[in-house]
Amino acid sequence: MRRPSNAVARLNRSGIREFFDLANRIPDAIHLEMGEPDFATPEHIRDAAARAANDGYTRYTPNAGIPQLREAIARKLEARNGIDASPDQVVVTPGAIAALYGTVMALCDPGDEILISDPAWPNYAMLAGLQGVGVVRYPMLPEHRMQPKAEQIEPLITDRTKILLINSPCNPTGTVIDQRHLEDLLDLADTHNLWVLSDEVYDEIVFDSDTVKSPAAQDKAGRVVSVFSFSKTYAMTGWRVGYAVAPPELAPYLVKIQEPVTACVNAPAQMAAVAALEGPQDCVTEMRDAYEKRRDGVVEILGQAGVPFIRPAGAFYLWINIAGSDMGSNDFARVLLEGHHVAVTPGRAFGPAGEDFVRVSLASKTEELNEGTTRLVHLLHARSG
Ligand code: PLP
Repeated sequence: MRRPSNAVARLNRSGIREFFDLANRIPDAIHLEMGEPDFATPEHIRDAAARAANDGYTRYTPNAGIPQLREAIARKLEARNGIDASPDQVVVTPGAIAALYGTVMALCDPGDEILISDPAWPNYAMLAGLQGVGVVRYPMLPEHRMQPKAEQIEPLITDRTKILLINSPCNPTGTVIDQRHLEDLLDLADTHNLWVLSDEVYDEIVFDSDTVKSPAAQDKAGRVVSVFSFSKTYAMTGWRVGYAVAPPELAPYLVKIQEPVTACVNAPAQMAAVAALEGPQDCVTEMRDAYEKRRDGVVEILGQAGVPFIRPAGAFYLWINIAGSDMGSNDFARVLLEGHHVAVTPGRAFGPAGEDFVRVSLASKTEELNEGTTRLVHLLHARSG
């Protein structure tokens, strides 16, 4: 066989997927590694897809998405994110992943650089690496409440830096970037003429009555591309519907990429997404409230046990510090899985800064979450010096 591409040969598997596969080999494992809602997609959304398929929505759609969906998204962006965008600026993609991939492709040439946080969702580095785009990591530190600091990012900027990627609420830390830090980041992007790629797939999973400030709502220079998803908000991970909203001059580039790569998102799923946005929203509130309640339960268990963690303000993850044990994150997660039948994700999967952490997903059943966390605490205590 002729040698396949270097880019793919170099691509490492996501550490999240690796642990998921390991966990699946243990039949009675408690799964706290999953990054997807444990809820079913609400019935009215499923019904809309079935109706759409029966009504003939079975053909290719426009590359950018069905007009009805782009219009519904534009209304949602204004009402819930404070983003004033026309439907022409919206591009519907097969999940947020494709929106992120397409945006990096639209903005970067091989050899350019993207700034991503440490820790960060592993797919960012994977998708940049596939495109020959260099990944430079900026810190998010517990002593700064995990807020990204413009003054720590600035020295990392070179003349090849094209994109500053931010993710709020953040997977894996649950951090919501506050207004002051966001303004500093936007100023930094202005000073150095960077694009800002803002991953807001957890925009509707925010706790303590907090709200997420969308960078695009405050972007005067037309440098922000925002990425959203139906996956987490409406428990629709398998449907593969996400979207990007981009400045008017950039949106056509994102649309152009769709044709050779995916053509469009499957038509019944797009109609399901319309139903999700236009139907009742209590499902969103109910799921969010459930995650918040679970967070409070786990926080209590960890607090009483004296285990340090980052208290999440959004998303559905807990970032737990295991530095007190005599193991790194991979070993800790492996022993917890094989010896105690609890699957979590080792922090190292999210970058070097994750070495002392594991990620627990709140998108798991409450009893399993509490039992799994209790076993984690026991292991941590047993292995601390
Ligand atoms: N961005 C972040 C931060 C995520 O955690 C995920 C999924 O885990 C995604 C994007 C991908 O979302 P989608 O299912 O819409 O591709």
